[in-house]
Amino acid sequence: MAKYFHENTILYFDGQMLKATEAHTNLYGQTLHYGYGVFEGIRSYKTENGARIFKAREHYERLIHSCQLLGIPFEYTVEEMTEISYKVLEANDFSDAYLRPLVICDPSMTLINGQPSKLLIAAWEWGAYLGEKLLNLKISPYCRPHPRSVHMEAKAVGHYVNSILATSDARKSGYDEALLLDCDGNLAEGPGANLFFEKDGVLYTPSLGHILPGITRATVLEMCAELDIPVEQGHFTAEDLFEADSAFFCGTGAEIIGIQKVDHYHFPKDWASTIGHQLRAKYLQLVREQTTQPASIEA
Ligand code: PMP
Repeated sequence: MAKYFHENTILYFDGQMLKATEAHTNLYGQTLHYGYGVFEGIRSYKTENGARIFKAREHYERLIHSCQLLGIPFEYTVEEMTEISYKVLEANDFSDAYLRPLVICDPSMTLINGQPSKLLIAAWEWGAYLGEKLLNLKISPYCRPHPRSVHMEAKAVGHYVNSILATSDARKSGYDEALLLDCDGNLAEGPGANLFFEKDGVLYTPSLGHILPGITRATVLEMCAELDIPVEQGHFTAEDLFEADSAFFCGTGAEIIGIQKVDHYHFPKDWASTIGHQLRAKYLQLVREQTTQPASIEA
């Protein structure tokens, strides 16, 4: 059995709390056949106030927006999905966990959108990650999909074929992960995380347009505003990265994780003295509610 569930795991699917072993779906849906579905990746953390879902509102707003962009009919509100998520955590007695909402479209082998959808919210335990091993990245031969081909702001199931190809290629070449360029050759993002790099005390990150607008990326920008760390968003190339002092990936799963090398370039600054390292410490406090949160952040 997959490690994501066992015989007593409870999930939410289409109006019901069910055992994962008893949940089932139709094999003739557009999500399974064509990648036409949307999802989210959310973390909950053990805090002094119990299990708290970090940025639930932002994640569920993005899920609704993804449905709208793809034309998937979807009725749930942010509040409903947040409540269900806490029920799933409670039913499984989880606090440090990963939540996986997935919107699945009903059976149809046509290419016409607008099929009614069903919501799955599954969760599995994800203990505190203590390691701080830095990543070695390979600039991927795959570029991110063109924003005129798909809606890159949507977290759509089908977009992750590109991510799987890029990660698998990087692993096969002996790297930890890939770094993808956009179709114009500018730096874009990782297969499941956004990129920041530091040069002379300033942080740089690719502008929105060719990347997923990461919720962790937005949190990093908020933390930088609070800490008076200058950040520039723009179009940058691999050559810019090869002159940088340090770099990191950020994402719900990755949190904030330092990068040691990209291809043959080794970042010169000791990770412990980088802006990324400082932000990582603050982020880990924030998600566990161990510090004062900026006004815009909701649990
Ligand atoms: N880019 C991609 C392609 C991703 O899959 C993710 C993970 N959702 C991110 C960036 C980071 O987004 P977030 O911070 O919202 O998890």
